[in-house]
Amino acid sequence: MKVIRAGRLIDGIGAAVQRDRALFVEDGQIVAIEAAGEPPADAEVIDLSGLSVMPGLIDCHVHLVFSRSAFALGDVLAEDDQQLLLRGVGAAREALSAGVTTVRDLGGRGGVTFKLRDAIAAGLIAGPRVLAAGSPITITGGHCHFLGLEADDEAAVRAAARLQLKSGANCLKIMSTGGRMTPGTNPQVAQYSVAELRAAVEEAQRANKTLAAHGLGTPGIRNATAAGVNTIEHCNWLGSDGNVDFDESVAAQMAKQETAVVPTLVPLQRAAPSLRMQVIAAQRRMVTLGVPVAAGTDAGVSLVRFDTLPDELAIYVAELGLTPLQAIHAATGAAARALGLDSTLGTLVPGRAADMLAVDGDPSIRIEDVRSVRMVIKGGRVVARDGVVL
Ligand SMILES: [Zn+2]
Repeated sequence: MKVIRAGRLIDGIGAAVQRDRALFVEDGQIVAIEAAGEPPADAEVIDLSGLSVMPGLIDCHVHLVFSRSAFALGDVLAEDDQQLLLRGVGAAREALSAGVTTVRDLGGRGGVTFKLRDAIAAGLIAGPRVLAAGSPITITGGHCHFLGLEADDEAAVRAAARLQLKSGANCLKIMSTGGRMTPGTNPQVAQYSVAELRAAVEEAQRANKTLAAHGLGTPGIRNATAAGVNTIEHCNWLGSDGNVDFDESVAAQMAKQETAVVPTLVPLQRAAPSLRMQVIAAQRRMVTLGVPVAAGTDAGVSLVRFDTLPDELAIYVAELGLTPLQAIHAATGAAARALGLDSTLGTLVPGRAADMLAVDGDPSIRIEDVRSVRMVIKGGRVVARDGVVL
């Protein structure tokens, strides 16, 4: 039995901060939460009574095998799978050091992210829990085709989804539009019809997994919403002229069916300021309409490190209009819900994994305090202290 004393407790559900609580942990799970008092004599006590304790962060959009250098595309094209695996080992440590205890990987190659996931789960290397899509499904020559999974019609999409699931994917990803990273693709137009996306949704559901759709342009976002995907990545609402063409009825439908948006605003900081402002305005409107926000960074793409989730949350507060508690919810309870993991993690309540981080200050008031990580605990074990992964 471990007892973790929390000076302030943020539960990840969105409730008000609780003071001076004790979390009882057994076999990596929270079994009870009580007012802090005299701990049982045989308990191992982790005293975080001077700190704020919150659920371990969930980054809903990373690429563990991308280099995050200025030449991320060139790196992944040039490197073999063994090099990608080593990239992933470093990326996993970097994420964990920032309090990220779960990531959803939305694009690897050759099954490398499955091996990474399994090595972390087996305790061979340090890192967050990994939900891995493997290779994303894309059209021939489409966005991220170099990750090796091209499919051009409904039957081929179905086969590609089944192949990833057979290979060990515990979520799926499909490219509903082109992407900025892949030369020759068009982010403004749809890559797939509703029926083709629906085939991927059905295959994910058959395996009780979730499906993420990359979507930059409005036609792709519209199709992905109609198909019923679980999350839409980036959601930049690009129209045919490259400016934002926001469709309020599609956003309202996302809210109604609980399709979450994963905004990935850290990389958008390098976009043209006028476009960035338009995207932010559209996403603010999505928040107002009640579209669930699940936090994600696109870590691994050019100049986006794996420890930048706190920066992403700060942007949600500064620009999307979320309160600090709502931003924390987007990276904890709401993220777990969007990924279908909410019965096992994402909140600090009995019956959930003892994944948490302790920070200086009070991030429920000042979101930037999420950066002041003093301790990271995963499955009840201390895995990082003061930014150093143990
Ligand atoms: Zn991505």
